[in-house]
Amino acid sequence: MGIKVCKFGGTSMADGNVILTAAKIVQADKERKYVVVSAPGKRFGADIKVTDLLYQCSDEFERGDTVAFAETFAKIRARFTNIETEIGKQLGMKEALDEVEKEILGGAGRDYCASRGEYLAAKIMSAVLGVAFVDATEFVRFNEDGTLSDTTFDLAAQVLSAHERAVIPGFYGLGANGKVKTFSRGGGDISGSIVARGVMASLYENWTDVSGFYACDPRIVNSPKCIPELSYQELRELSYMGANVLHSEAIFPVRNAGIPIRICNTFRPTDAGTYIVKTSTRDIRDNVVTGIAGKKDFTAISIEKSMMNSEVGFVGKVLSVIGHRGISFEHLPSGIDTMSLVIDNEYLKNGVLQEVVDEMKTLVKPDKIYVHENISLVATVGHGMANNVGTSARLFKALSEAGINVMMIDQGSSEMNIIVGVENADCAGCISAIYNEFFN
Ligand code: ASP
Repeated sequence: MGIKVCKFGGTSMADGNVILTAAKIVQADKERKYVVVSAPGKRFGADIKVTDLLYQCSDEFERGDTVAFAETFAKIRARFTNIETEIGKQLGMKEALDEVEKEILGGAGRDYCASRGEYLAAKIMSAVLGVAFVDATEFVRFNEDGTLSDTTFDLAAQVLSAHERAVIPGFYGLGANGKVKTFSRGGGDISGSIVARGVMASLYENWTDVSGFYACDPRIVNSPKCIPELSYQELRELSYMGANVLHSEAIFPVRNAGIPIRICNTFRPTDAGTYIVKTSTRDIRDNVVTGIAGKKDFTAISIEKSMMNSEVGFVGKVLSVIGHRGISFEHLPSGIDTMSLVIDNEYLKNGVLQEVVDEMKTLVKPDKIYVHENISLVATVGHGMANNVGTSARLFKALSEAGINVMMIDQGSSEMNIIVGVENADCAGCISAIYNEFFN
């Protein structure tokens, strides 16, 4: 018998009724032995996620605004006590919330505060299912630099082997300083993956509110096709570029062990969902492109200098300007006498862009340097594109017919992605033109 790890996202934990639905899903399959949960998410469009309320509480505590803190914490209390009422069982929420409030007011810190949504949600799920609660701090460990420690997987295997079944809170672990530390937002998916790797699961089921991974953003194209199967690498490319069904780092723990991930819908549990596997078995003749995703708000810094290609160390000098500021770049398209650096706008705020440009001018004395802001990167991804003659011709013809100006082109050496840079205003049009060409 295999072991399945189920991770339930925020919408699957949003209220008592949906938590009961999630619990039924777990109970419907004996192989579903380990459950990882997110904090309660939104119940309706204008609702606020518990994690957002907790971050707000932390800010209010930090600036000493006791009135605002009390108001926000009261909202969190209401979310959890409502859940208890909806479930119709004493789950000890009052005492647990009192303890959490005391710890936050005692200065337990921002990450501790943010992590309590998952902690309380896991307490609830463990009581509903009648299985052990295992805290994530027992095995999820971070290094000093904030990266996940390699000890995590062995520790997860060791700790979880003591429990035939367990519920584990997602999103956090123990930092190198011995205090609670969270992943980046949406990191509960990484926790699920760690548990799957720790228990060497046969399947990691990620339960969410959509029936799988769509070929592109459904807010851009009406009812896009659901991808039945994609490879880890395709997923990584698409989620990094903005397809946000799964956290972009969630594949790392399961990838080496070859554990497949299935994206499933808590609200439509019989839908097939999407399988994410080591090597996709889809017929690449019918599926040239697997998916398209786009990310807005990049800046291209382009440098022109005659004979740049023969100037030893030129690129190194340019990169040192961003390197010593801790700025990473996304792409580096280049020609004989030109090169561009495509950088996330986030890094270039508050005058940093100007500083970078000025330092590059001094250091490499370019003939010309110019900046293009508000660029979107759109990635077309699929193993089927490799060696498939005519794919890029189709893509660029579709963009030219849609009147979209392509400012930058980058094709990965594995030929499984083509990334184009377009104006932010053209991002949605670019995605739908490519979708229509390859999927309609
Ligand atoms: N609750 C966290 C967030 O809202 C983590 C997660 O849901 O995975 O980002």
